[in-house]
Amino acid sequence: MSDSTRVYSYSAVLMGSPILLKLFAHDEALASRVFRLIKQYEDLLTVNRAQSQVMDINHAAGQHAVAVSSPVYALIKCAKAASLLPQSAFNLAIGPLVKRWRIGFRGDSVPPADEIARLLTLTDPRQVVLNDADESVYLTQPGMEIDLGAIAKGYIADRVRDYLHKEGIAQGLINLGGNVQTLGSPEGGWSIGLKKPFSTAGAMIGALEVANKSVVTSGVYERFFEHNGHLYHHILDPRTGYPLDNELDSVTIISSDSIDGDIWTTLMYGMGVEKGCAALRARPDIEAIFVTRTKEVVLSSAHHYRFTLLDSEYRLTGSTV
Ligand code: FAD
Ligand code: MG
Repeated sequence: MSDSTRVYSYSAVLMGSPILLKLFAHDEALASRVFRLIKQYEDLLTVNRAQSQVMDINHAAGQHAVAVSSPVYALIKCAKAASLLPQSAFNLAIGPLVKRWRIGFRGDSVPPADEIARLLTLTDPRQVVLNDADESVYLTQPGMEIDLGAIAKGYIADRVRDYLHKEGIAQGLINLGGNVQTLGSPEGGWSIGLKKPFSTAGAMIGALEVANKSVVTSGVYERFFEHNGHLYHHILDPRTGYPLDNELDSVTIISSDSIDGDIWTTLMYGMGVEKGCAALRARPDIEAIFVTRTKEVVLSSAHHYRFTLLDSEYRLTGSTV
């Protein structure tokens, strides 16, 4: 490989996730600046520490509105809009349930049904009141909590892309623990592996080739626990308060912006393969790869990427919708 095509990889752990940056020039200082940028957003948005701008809003639930910085306000506004889409499985106010289940964190357990029912009453996204005039957010009920875990990594991946563009980088890749955003098109495009669910770390079902695209995967195999033979994973159904129960092991979204990928993985989880493919027919800019429990790989379409199946246990099918 000639020096001009050599890829330099930089890694860190932020947001409880492995972070990987790939560049075509050795630039330790740039990598540090990128990781610092991610850390700044983590500090604003995290709900895994006592203090952040989002936690300031949560701490003031039922008491008063909290003015936040413009990026935080814009992201919350976007998350609320996604939550109010018809039949949306996305809910930015899911926080009380996420905190109670603790899936992916120490102390996870199945909550009693009456507790789930009580917590569900604290998750109405319409009770997240936004005020554009002063960019403030008010949670009307005590105990309400915003959780941006299903959208923030996508948003941050896009900010990293913008930052690299501003720095004059034409080709690069950022992977925020399953949330990939790419710049440019190295020879043949960027090759991104599709993880094999419930398998060893490097095992892949297939590979996607993309250019200037985001590839976001959300799966039930990343954060889960088992109890009495039942698997409880971290994508909760806002209608029931329990993990979404359907035929899917993972969903991958290919889109221009990673924030769309992050939102749509959750929406697709709520819809499942058939309804998901039907919904995507109206959105040629958003494409999905569904991986089912019965080892089918369903492509909603494949106009903006190339997919190669690498594991013969899986069957590849196009959307029939
Ligand atoms: P996605 O499927 O995109 O989202 C699932 C996550 O969204 C869940 O984990 C939950 O947080 C939330 N959620 C569940 N159901 C819904 C729903 N129906 N609608 C909307 N949201 C839902 N992890 C750690 O282990 N330690 C940390 O310190 C830590 N800090 C973080 C800080 C930030 C700023 C962010 C963005 C994430 C952090 N995480 C941390 C990871 C976080 O807890 C989630 O696991 C992660 O964001 C899930 O991303 P995903 O793409 O795998 O899943
Ligand atoms: Mg998501």
